[in-house]
Amino acid sequence: MAIAIAICNWKGGVAKTTTAVSLGHGLALSGHRVLLVDMDPQGHCSKALGLDQEAGVFNLLVNDSSLEMVLRPTGREHLTILPGDKRTSSAHYLMNLERQPLSRVAEILQPATKNGSGFEYVIFDTAPSVGGLQDQAIWASDMVLIPCACDFLSADGVQQIIDSMEFLVQHHHWEGYLMGVLPTFYDEVTTESQATLHELQEQFRDRVLMPIHRATVLRQCAAEGRTVFEVDSKSRAAAEYSALVHYVMEKIR
Ligand code: ADP
Ligand code: MG
Repeated sequence: MAIAIAICNWKGGVAKTTTAVSLGHGLALSGHRVLLVDMDPQGHCSKALGLDQEAGVFNLLVNDSSLEMVLRPTGREHLTILPGDKRTSSAHYLMNLERQPLSRVAEILQPATKNGSGFEYVIFDTAPSVGGLQDQAIWASDMVLIPCACDFLSADGVQQIIDSMEFLVQHHHWEGYLMGVLPTFYDEVTTESQATLHELQEQFRDRVLMPIHRATVLRQCAAEGRTVFEVDSKSRAAAEYSALVHYVMEKIR
């Protein structure tokens, strides 16, 4: 079985996409076969990899396309993408309207997650919105990783995700768990950053992972459609995301 990991936070701009793409490519560079699923209607995963946006998620969920028809190579060894674009929000709307079961995304992705699919990891990049497809992505996942920008009140956002995870466990037989809280945009020079990290550690203890520092190279990556391992593999940001990749591989083993 592939291990599915959802990257979630209901806030935008906390580095969900950056983390999904960096973790996905990092695992692929370590020789693991990875499927990156873009559940955000903004379709930023494709952009971050320098690829065209496509209605992959919409076609899969609404037009009954087969998984084979919607998966795309990324031009990187071991890394495949299920792209999304703005039509993903129509899929989200229709799912809610039709009251589709929470298990729908998990069922439809079964050919990718089941034994012998060839994939070892499925990573969901999610949108900053509540319910529908985003809950289905969590339900389809074994673990959730919560990136959290080191700014004021961000611990509240983390707690909201944890609360909804607990709701899924208690009321919808979900068997996943929290992999960790990943502090992002960390800048030890500012007291706000330090205070937020401290607050996160107080509240979430050993579930808080090593922070990712604020780094210009990560902005450059998004602009160029290349990952941090391609733009500057010697950068601190690359080392920090490598550490996350190793943490995930250890956790699974
Ligand atoms: P989200 O998916 O949560 O909305 P993104 O991953 O798209 O967030 O990140 C938002 C913006 O911040 C992007 O332009 C991205 O390149 C940039 N970014 C992400 N992580 C960092 C970081 N650690 N330092 C500086 N810029 C970052
Ligand atoms: Mg995003």
